Amino acid sequence: LLAADGSVTASIFAEMSALAMRTGSINLGQGFPDEDGPAEVLEAARQAIADGVNQYPPGRGDPILLDAISRHQLRFYGLTVDPATEILVTAGATEALAATILALLEPGDEVVTFEPFYDAYGGLIALGGGIHRTVPLHSPGFQPEESELRAAVSDRTRLILINNPHNPTGTVFSTETLALIVELAHRHNALIVTDEVYEHLTFGVPHIPITTLPGAAERTITISSAGKTFNTTGWKIGWLSAPAPIVTAILAVKQFLSYVNGAPFQPAIARGLDLPDSFYTGIATDLAAKRDVLAEGLRTAGFEITVPQGSYFIVADAQSLGYAEGAEFCRALPELAGVVGVPLSAFTSPDHRHRYASLVRFAYCKRVEVLEQAATQLAGLS
Ligand code: PMP
Ligand code: GLN
Repeated sequence: LLAADGSVTASIFAEMSALAMRTGSINLGQGFPDEDGPAEVLEAARQAIADGVNQYPPGRGDPILLDAISRHQLRFYGLTVDPATEILVTAGATEALAATILALLEPGDEVVTFEPFYDAYGGLIALGGGIHRTVPLHSPGFQPEESELRAAVSDRTRLILINNPHNPTGTVFSTETLALIVELAHRHNALIVTDEVYEHLTFGVPHIPITTLPGAAERTITISSAGKTFNTTGWKIGWLSAPAPIVTAILAVKQFLSYVNGAPFQPAIARGLDLPDSFYTGIATDLAAKRDVLAEGLRTAGFEITVPQGSYFIVADAQSLGYAEGAEFCRALPELAGVVGVPLSAFTSPDHRHRYASLVRFAYCKRVEVLEQAATQLAGLS
């Protein structure tokens, strides 16, 4: 977590956003939208502040939000979740991940994730004293090999931590893969932690929460965030749901992390979770159109790309343009095209970095005119 000289290293996302600012480039690096979300949600936050919802909320979360999360799980996935005991509101999905890992992991326990993996996973597993085992995702389509997944999970595995839809690759895992994870978790008595922050951002494929599979719910912690669904990444409202004793264990850690968070934003997100189905289909359709604009731009610029089925991100191969190292390409890209992306090496372990060396992640959660401008600038590369 520290650089060789003892300084704190900036996350790749902060570093790339700073690079975009410094060079005046289009920031397709850090994944955050450049437009506000639904007006009702913004207005509900203003109203909550005006109404004096400005002090510590209850430790598990504002009951208005807990109820809305419970209704959301029933409406979209047919899940019955007790708002009083089976849900915890957190400071973003990040705190949900942190509290879960710190609560459930003993030093020396193993955590299995796919690779590439969201950067926080590596840091949090290290904070928890865990050993990180990864299962590489392979081209085409960034899919796991069954044999490699089976080999990675053992009786030493405490947590299988998945991210579906997946950042950085945009993969939506098949039901067969999810079922295999449940089978392995049962066989080795592991828990499943699933980060589903992009749950409403899939394109033409349904989102299947792993907890809905037979035998999964008893051992699954499901994590989500309002940031991606309502374009409120800066509000840091996230949540998790799990069997009541597991939620209690995670709450015991959360109380010493943030204690509580975001009082006026909690009822505002509850308002968002109650928006009609048309809102949810609308955000996915809208984002799919943006994905298509960026995909076309990248292809025209000469990149080989993997078209994502979900999330904010598209992976392009800089090798097609003669760069073996995505990191080197990303450093040069502001000058070459006035665009910023993130090298996939930021999401990898030293053991598997070579597999992803030439790949770069671009975010398409931006206004269409911004993506079109990026496409025009990238076209000059080839
Ligand atoms: N998990 C994944 C896969 C993410 O992409 C992100 C952020 N973009 C997070 C967790 C963090 O979410 P939050 O901002 O709600 O902490
Ligand atoms: N999750 C966002 C991304 O992948 C960034 C969040 C962050 O900066 N930590 O780009």
